[in-house]
Amino acid sequence: MMYNIGMDYTNKDFLERRPQRLCLMCGRCCRMAVASIPHSELLKKTEEGDESSKEFLEIFEPYATIEEALKADEATVKNIPDWENRTFYHCRFIRDDNLCSRYETRYEVCRIFPSSPWAVIPPNCGFRGWMFNEVEAHKRKIRKLKEESVYYNAKLKTNIPNKEKQLYKKLIDKISERVKLYEKYGSQYW
Ligand code: SF4
Ligand code: SF4
Repeated sequence: MMYNIGMDYTNKDFLERRPQRLCLMCGRCCRMAVASIPHSELLKKTEEGDESSKEFLEIFEPYATIEEALKADEATVKNIPDWENRTFYHCRFIRDDNLCSRYETRYEVCRIFPSSPWAVIPPNCGFRGWMFNEVEAHKRKIRKLKEESVYYNAKLKTNIPNKEKQLYKKLIDKISERVKLYEKYGSQYW
């Protein structure tokens, strides 16, 4: 799994709808983790008191080499963008049967994984299909909004009262804000 150090993971709506029964309890997300920042930066941030980095290193220990990580789970490693230049980690608390040895007191970041439809998950993760549908649903919503925006823009070019024009302008602005929210996931291209 990919950890975005320092980011707020909470997406309450997504988490409430996420069907936990889809987890196959395969432990792949615990055995192959990667941070959004290099290991040296993680250490530096931990020294500076950054809680998110400290927590990551409390949970995870780095594989000694990339070869060791590839040997443990090649498909998951190669599923991570720019994997050749990253450090991969394994959890200190996973048991041989793939269950968590501290399940009741596991970290928040573990409880909420995967925390958004765009979370980077292992190739055979049980959530994959469901998350794909979630992402597609977001895309459909954004596309529909964009179509509305085209319609409102066309209305602005017609001879309508100023009050109505103001209303359409407001709606167009709202749609732009919404599209922007998803820009990092590619909403500008949907
Ligand atoms: S603490 Fe438990 S849930 Fe979290 S990564 Fe480790 S084994 Fe997985
Ligand atoms: S990789 Fe997916 S299916 Fe496997 S334990 Fe993690 S969340 Fe569950």
